[in-house]
Amino acid sequence: MKIFCIGRNYAAHAAELNNEVPENPVVFMKPDTAVVKNNDPVYYPDFTNDLHYEVELVVRISKMGKHIEEKFASKYYDQIGLGVDFTARDIQAELKQKGLPWERAKAFDQSAVIGQFWSVAEFEDIQNTTFELYKNDVRVQFGNTMDMIFTINQLIANISKMCTLKVGDLIFTGTPSGVGPVKKGDQLRGVLNTKVSFDFPIL
Ligand code: ZN
Repeated sequence: MKIFCIGRNYAAHAAELNNEVPENPVVFMKPDTAVVKNNDPVYYPDFTNDLHYEVELVVRISKMGKHIEEKFASKYYDQIGLGVDFTARDIQAELKQKGLPWERAKAFDQSAVIGQFWSVAEFEDIQNTTFELYKNDVRVQFGNTMDMIFTINQLIANISKMCTLKVGDLIFTGTPSGVGPVKKGDQLRGVLNTKVSFDFPIL
């Protein structure tokens, strides 16, 4: 199973990290060992002092494909949910400065939380759907998928030019503005539309 993540897919988030809005999707990957499910706790890693949450809409691929055209892309996924792309922001800043790859900041164990998924059919318009992240019951991130720079279908078309997509692969589609730090003892809850996708502690 492959996990693709998209950087800078919401203009307001790109701006808050002083990044330019990209012409092509910024794509990076996480290994399957990054996944946390079932509201299991996330243990604060010892190599960072600035672990950040990034709530994201996550798409699950349901059909194998390569060179998928944008107009057919919607046939290649059937479920969406929410996830958290955990990022060691201090490490990422160092790597960016040196022009090095991001794995040490993005691909560590437990860096890809995924919540409950639902059939795409349960949503009126998945490209106009709200999602929220609450930290200790305070809303810290709010997004609408209509603000994506690259739509889900465009992302699938773009990524599948590079890699064959297989059943079960996941795409984290980027975070809206409002990213910030967590500490031990925090509780994170993700709400997609009105449905709670995840609710887990940092320990
Ligand atoms: Zn992200």
